[in-house]
Amino acid sequence: MVFIDLAYNNVMKIIRGTALDISSEGKGVIKHNKDIIFVDGLFPKEKADVEILYTRAGVYFGKVKKLYSLSKDRIQPKCKICTACGGCQFQQLAYSAQLEYKTKRVKNAMTRIADVDTEVLPCIGMEDPYHYRNKIQVPFAKDRCGKVKYGFYKENTHIIVPTKQCMIEDKRAAPILWDIKLLLEEMKIPIYNEKSGKGILRHVLIRTSFHYPEVMVVLVTTILNFPGQRNFINSLVQKHPEITTIVANVNARKTNVVLGKLDKVLYGPGKIKDDILGLTFEISASSFFQVNPIQVEKLYSGVFNLINCSKKETLLDAYSRVGTIGLLAAKKAKKVISVESNKSAHKNAIGNAKRNNLKNIEFICDDASEYIAKCDEQIDVVIMDPPRSGSDKKFLSTLVNKQIKKIIYVSCNPETLARDVEYLSKHYDVTFIQPVDMFPMTSHVETIVLLQLRR
Ligand code: SAH
Repeated sequence: MVFIDLAYNNVMKIIRGTALDISSEGKGVIKHNKDIIFVDGLFPKEKADVEILYTRAGVYFGKVKKLYSLSKDRIQPKCKICTACGGCQFQQLAYSAQLEYKTKRVKNAMTRIADVDTEVLPCIGMEDPYHYRNKIQVPFAKDRCGKVKYGFYKENTHIIVPTKQCMIEDKRAAPILWDIKLLLEEMKIPIYNEKSGKGILRHVLIRTSFHYPEVMVVLVTTILNFPGQRNFINSLVQKHPEITTIVANVNARKTNVVLGKLDKVLYGPGKIKDDILGLTFEISASSFFQVNPIQVEKLYSGVFNLINCSKKETLLDAYSRVGTIGLLAAKKAKKVISVESNKSAHKNAIGNAKRNNLKNIEFICDDASEYIAKCDEQIDVVIMDPPRSGSDKKFLSTLVNKQIKKIIYVSCNPETLARDVEYLSKHYDVTFIQPVDMFPMTSHVETIVLLQLRR
């Protein structure tokens, strides 16, 4: 073993250290002299020999070579490939410790970045934190022996880690994927090769409904009609009568984007439906939909309980995607205005309102900051759920200038949330902070914050 001063040696080496904390990406944090090393699958207080793999932006990234002491929170992972696949950071961490980490991460961001000392409520978790994902997307390729393989990409690479059973995906997906592999081999359907750009089948997407017995399979292919397509579909449906629709999505471009623009329904209605808190939503191959059907109801109930309106108020749902939060809020408000910049999500949102027969909601396809600045309607409550990068100065300063009484901020990134809350807290009291675990086994955490205009 070589002990080195990382500052002077930029080559792959091994160091020994003890993790002090977990980073926002879910990696163990080791301080070695003046250097910071982020280590996959290492938890606080664990001592290990760590192999340095690469360096980026002045910090180092490594993997555990040998563990000397184990955290009391370390568990035997249910997933056999969790250390190879880039999907989950916390399969080896007890679920109670995952929730504690998420609560602490939000607390730290709020105190350090936002300088807010409002109590952070314990993160709301799942009773069973496995098999929750309703959307599974796997790349296909050929292995060295010419066999068809599929799985998930190793972190930061396009190396497929073969996966027969993912522990966070809906249990209905695994047997379908396995039979798709067997059919592809049997029917000799060419698998796409990323390097050459040749071949037909690239990805398979499976979307499942939580409330209805409906399953959608999307075959992402380079051509619309591949040889033997009819036989392939018939055999798949025969083996899996639970599949209610199959869609071909054509993507012939050399790109990392999974879905192409053209869809063709090969079997069934081309869509499935699902419910959130009593509203019904239609899901097509490419439409956005929350991926954890159990936790989304807890998240939205949390938001819904804070609205506290009596049908007199006008509410703005900013960064609204397919309109889910706004549609639920419409039950309590006189009027909801829903703003989303993505055209296809905006179109889906209009369809969702029609389907649920909700008329007191208006959908605007625009930049949220541009829209709120020019909107001349009196807005009483703003619900905002921006992307990971958070909101922007224009949006936040308009909230302040318009003296919006109540802001319900839903965020998937505690650090950008805290940055925005810091700005707003000069004029607003932060009265409620509730983390919700939408993605067990990963380091992600969603947070609901209530801000009330100071009088
Ligand atoms: N509230 C949604 C999730 C929102 S995710 C739900 O519960 O499902 C963030 C959304 O903000 C995305 O749909 C993205 O397209 C949209 N978005 C990103 N930047 C935007 C901007 N500047 N103005 C309006 N919408 C934006």
